[in-house]
Amino acid sequence: MELHLANSNGRASLIHGKRLIDVERRSDGRFGTDPMDLLARWGEFADWAASLDPDDGDAPLDESSLLACVPRPQKVFGIGLNYRDHAAEADLPIPEQPLVFTKFPNCLVGPTADVILTSDRVDWEVELVVVIGRGGTAIPEARAFDSVAGYCAGQDISDRRMQFAGKPPQFSLGKSANTFGPIGPAVVSLDAFADPNDLGLSCTVSGERMQDGRTSNMVFSVAELIAFLSRYCTLVPGDLIFTGTPAGVGSTRRRYLQPSDLIESSIEGIGSLRNRCVSA
Ligand code: ZN
Repeated sequence: MELHLANSNGRASLIHGKRLIDVERRSDGRFGTDPMDLLARWGEFADWAASLDPDDGDAPLDESSLLACVPRPQKVFGIGLNYRDHAAEADLPIPEQPLVFTKFPNCLVGPTADVILTSDRVDWEVELVVVIGRGGTAIPEARAFDSVAGYCAGQDISDRRMQFAGKPPQFSLGKSANTFGPIGPAVVSLDAFADPNDLGLSCTVSGERMQDGRTSNMVFSVAELIAFLSRYCTLVPGDLIFTGTPAGVGSTRRRYLQPSDLIESSIEGIGSLRNRCVSA
């Protein structure tokens, strides 16, 4: 059964339609309130959740209560230039191996949090985010999905002024300011997707459609990224991979985020993030 694991005001909760089920209360304490613990026990948790009556929610879903669905990952990877059309708009060659950078976990916020603009060159990038479940070391590509708990939507917010201030450019700080990593609305288990390698994703800014792509157009697939990263870094429960963004970012449009802009980032089968921009 598909799971949508959210973080409602610090309590792990399952979203069923428009209602929330509090995991700790419903399980009589067998599972706690911390989403990180559930990701570390994902198989056992999924088995328990499958036994629930889906129509028996505890409380109506209030999206403004949702915090980062993965609050404290050990690692947050970003992948650069992972869609051909985005590499083309950046006028850069298609990478021959995954181009990896870090988003420090302080940047993570929930699906309706404000994004604090650190300069006049802050940009949007809608991305599919992989949430690691079991994890592992040197995971074979053919078994990569066994190591995954699910997917969520993400915004890889980037301060291009910081990112390109020197040569060579430095990605990590320019993509890690506080609030630069909205994720959510929930971790959605892979059985929710007819084809987990082909999901539509899009981004609008204050109603204007900026990005529209499909994850099947990635240069390196989710399985290839997991195999590649896990050769170097052991993946542990809750680790996140921001898998790159399709074309249509602000730096090629010469249009950057302004205070009061609303960024809406949507992925098929997962849902939407709605983040308002505010000045620092
Ligand atoms: Zn990105």
